[in-house]
Amino acid sequence: MEYISTRSSLKPVSSAKAILTGLADDGGLYLPKSIPQVTPEDIKKMAQMDYCGRAEFILSLFLTDYSADDISSCVKGAYNSAKFDSPKMAPTVKLENGLYVLELWHGPTCAFKDMALQLMPRLFTTAIKMDKLDKTVVILVATSGDTGKAALEGFCDVDGTKIIVFYPADGVSEVQKRQMTTQKGKNTYVVGVNGNFDDCQNAVKSIFSDADLKSQLEQNGYEFSSANSINWGRLVPQIIYYFSSYCDLLESGEITLGEKIDFAVPTGNFGDILAGYIAKRMGLFVNKLVCASNKNNILTDFINTGVYDRNRDFYTTMSPSMDILISSNLERLLFMMSDLDCDLISKLMAELKNEGRYRISDSLLLKLKSEFTGGFANEADTLAAIGSIYKKYNYVIDPHTAVAANVAMENRTDCKMVVLSTANPYKFPKSVIEGVSGSKVQIKNEFELFDILNKTTGLKIPAQLSELETMQERFKTVCQKGHMRDIVKDFLNI
Ligand SMILES: *Cc1c(COP(=O)(O)O)cnc(C)c1O
Repeated sequence: MEYISTRSSLKPVSSAKAILTGLADDGGLYLPKSIPQVTPEDIKKMAQMDYCGRAEFILSLFLTDYSADDISSCVKGAYNSAKFDSPKMAPTVKLENGLYVLELWHGPTCAFKDMALQLMPRLFTTAIKMDKLDKTVVILVATSGDTGKAALEGFCDVDGTKIIVFYPADGVSEVQKRQMTTQKGKNTYVVGVNGNFDDCQNAVKSIFSDADLKSQLEQNGYEFSSANSINWGRLVPQIIYYFSSYCDLLESGEITLGEKIDFAVPTGNFGDILAGYIAKRMGLFVNKLVCASNKNNILTDFINTGVYDRNRDFYTTMSPSMDILISSNLERLLFMMSDLDCDLISKLMAELKNEGRYRISDSLLLKLKSEFTGGFANEADTLAAIGSIYKKYNYVIDPHTAVAANVAMENRTDCKMVVLSTANPYKFPKSVIEGVSGSKVQIKNEFELFDILNKTTGLKIPAQLSELETMQERFKTVCQKGHMRDIVKDFLNI
């Protein structure tokens, strides 16, 4: 399987190379040149397997340069009972006939990023070995909260890697902060920055492109890389759970083989829902992919009008992981839908960079609309969805999932619907209590809120969140944004 860039006809690379490099040299994103096909017979076989078996099957179609043994050990290291608190890893829960929730938050950090970030570091280090690189890879992450912790857990004590996470010192919740500052591992480092998320991100980007630093790193056997969602190694693990959910519904007799179903996906950077589209192109029986946004509804407008326009207000919402105005993985979708037209993509992305907007052709828009439905939920809709799902089904959802649930309800077709659930409700206890109870909450201490949510709903508090209150903080450094480069050098002793 060869991987090509979305922006020009560069020489194709192997999957290991695509995972190691992240971004292609022309600034484009890697995608397989052709999409491997899965037959109904394959799906039937997969239904008999556990999550690891299904993962090995799907991955082996994409990572053709990895050996079966390598894939198997990556998968078993990522998805196991020491890391996930559900034997199914990503169980599909029934709310009523025809309506289901795919829970993607049973991993170590209680959020869906674990589904990819538990596996990606293993794919990564295997690629290093295959490439016979005698280097330590240094992962730099700027985080607004959830990604940092999931990356730290994923890379913790993975041989041949070090990871440094920068977070805005006053821009994350107490739980998010403690999740990071209590991180274990010999190869981990966490630093608060006096600044906002953009400051962190911009400084990390400039560190990446610092030629002096790069050569110093090389002399010392280091190389930078990133763990963000444009890396193919983060996308490919996400295809697995679409198949797995379908297989579980098949196994439990909720659907019959060949029956098409809808998926509603709470969308930010477009990685999750793109994985669903790839699953569909592989042959999974998907009817519509419902792209759900919060008040930052740039994708809803795009799917409805064909115009992507980031010249608009940015809102901070109760579903922060979806507060995004540039959905990077949309580039991959347009590339696939335009039959790999890299000149078109390169032109559109230049327009986005220079003018902040682009328009796709009517024929491409028509195609897009045949696969996707776009919708959004504002803040009141989101709270209302938390409340109504709780009342109707005695089931608690977080604000991100609530956005998807709200949009899913407004876009039902004749097909059965699976709503993707991306965070444990305890990650956003204040909004969840407000949604469930229908009244405002004044308490700010999140550990107090845990108890209230537990008393109100009976939902179990995940141990990895409650223990944070008393755990020792390991990382107390807070720096000025101008000092991040020095911090990196100190940590690496160069
Ligand atoms: C990252 C994230 C999303 C959005 O996923 P994308 O792949 O960026 O579209 C939704 N919900 C939660 C909780 C997330 O952490």
